[in-house]
Amino acid sequence: MVDTTPTLFTRIINREIPAEILYEDDQCIVINDIAPQAPVHMLVIPRQPIPRLADASQADRSVLGHLMWVAGEVARQAGVDEAFRLVVNNGAGAGQTVFHLHLHVLADPSDKTIFSESTM
Ligand code: 5GP
Repeated sequence: MVDTTPTLFTRIINREIPAEILYEDDQCIVINDIAPQAPVHMLVIPRQPIPRLADASQADRSVLGHLMWVAGEVARQAGVDEAFRLVVNNGAGAGQTVFHLHLHVLADPSDKTIFSESTM
């Protein structure tokens, strides 16, 4: 049976739950993460509640590309376009906790070398 319960992010998109909204358009919304893991920690979220990246279909390719473009735009607006990281957690085993696809945009404007010692 398909679960039609609105996701946490759908409820944020519908303004049922408050969030710091940084950007929105007809396909997605960008909010500040409530528990930031870096000085800049934004979430790029499609309006369409695709549960996981692995659930995206061929028909979703356009919105997936749009999310990437928006990530670069909001990074530039936040002044971190020289050094930021994009993370997508796919599945509980990878740390996904909200099953509505989202891109994490992570950066530390005060330390442009923070990500140079990558563990990925
Ligand atoms: P995941 O672990 O699924 O990749 O990422 C979910 C993210 O959503 C986490 O970084 C978490 O801090 C964030 N988050 C969870 N609940 C809320 C909320 O109510 N508001 C906002 N702005 N972020 C949230």
